[in-house]
Amino acid sequence: MLYDNAKAICPGSFDPVTNGHVDIIERAAQLFPTVVVGVLKNSNKKPLFSVEERVDLLKSVLSHLPNVEVLSFSGLLVDFVSQVKGKLIVKGLRAISDFEIEFQMALNNKRMAPNIETMFMMTKNEYSFLSSSMVKEIAQYGGDIHDLVPAQVEAALHGKYKLMQV
Ligand code: ADP
Repeated sequence: MLYDNAKAICPGSFDPVTNGHVDIIERAAQLFPTVVVGVLKNSNKKPLFSVEERVDLLKSVLSHLPNVEVLSFSGLLVDFVSQVKGKLIVKGLRAISDFEIEFQMALNNKRMAPNIETMFMMTKNEYSFLSSSMVKEIAQYGGDIHDLVPAQVEAALHGKYKLMQV
């Protein structure tokens, strides 16, 4: 079997990690022997959390999964996948609106790295409306996010927005 021994990469900005991300990573960790979460140091978006903060939050939230490793990367995803000797990319899909951009990225990655496969998992019903940007927007105005993100992330978001108010 091709993926018996394979390392799967779950890439993203994770600014910050939400329950939707955790669900996809937990499911990938049951399917593949090793999962590497790749945190993109995005140069053109201005993230709320630094790459170190995003990596630390992910490590804390995923500490119950022994076969999951968290690393950061910049540049092309396919180069990162090759660097860590990964075989495939695993991504989550929430809605039709995710599909077009994901389709584009998957085909471009396939062109650059034909040996790397991209696989998609459907979101859990209750997380289909959930995104990091939505969580930040709600948290910023004091809304309840406790069922959308892990407790550590909720605390970190409250900390950030409190600091911004002083
Ligand atoms: P976002 O799109 O919220 O900025 P990321 O860039 O961090 O998130 O996304 C990383 C990966 O996680 C992508 O494959 C994205 O589709 C997936 N993802 C994000 N939110 C969810 C969710 N609620 N359910 C399933 N997958 C998700």
